[in-house]
Amino acid sequence: LLKLNDILAILHETGHALHNLLSQTQYGLLHGTGVCRDFVEIPSTVVEKIMTRPRVLQDISCHYAYISLEYTESWIKDQKNLDDAKAIALPEKKIPEALITRMLQKFRESATFMNNANIAGSLFDMAVHHPTNHLDLENMNLASEFNRIHKDIRLLDGLEELGHGMDYGHKFAHFQHLIGDSAAQYYAYVRCGNLSKCFN
Ligand SMILES: [Zn+2]
Repeated sequence: LLKLNDILAILHETGHALHNLLSQTQYGLLHGTGVCRDFVEIPSTVVEKIMTRPRVLQDISCHYAYISLEYTESWIKDQKNLDDAKAIALPEKKIPEALITRMLQKFRESATFMNNANIAGSLFDMAVHHPTNHLDLENMNLASEFNRIHKDIRLLDGLEELGHGMDYGHKFAHFQHLIGDSAAQYYAYVRCGNLSKCFN
């Protein structure tokens, strides 16, 4: 079953796919997502906006009880486990409008939280890719740096409040964008996400 974030990810990657399919460029190296990082996330974040249209969400929705007879029986069995009622009506096939409204409201409320997480990620990305010299990088305490930046930007307390200092955890090790294509360019998500607000 797809969650709202899964739909967002599918739309985002569809934006990259369309960018690659529809680009007309003279040099293959610069084709589609080969464009500079400052622009590359704009088509994908523009396509993400489709998700904020309730009509689209309703059109693509389908309650799993309608997928097959097996799923229908499974859903009915689950309901009977919850409630001993004999006749159980199937749920609406399409997602109800009221539920979409609530989901999108939650999504908008968490947008600032996500944006702050991306800003913190961008600053950490810059910190590890732009040390003053090689020795500074070797001496950098990655966990402390990561936790300090996240605390400053996201205004959330961490384990330092329990007397552990800032050197705790290995969350930075899960930050895959630090290496590969996005190295020192993670800021593109924040930049392009804001620029794409010009498109409706
Ligand atoms: Zn992307």
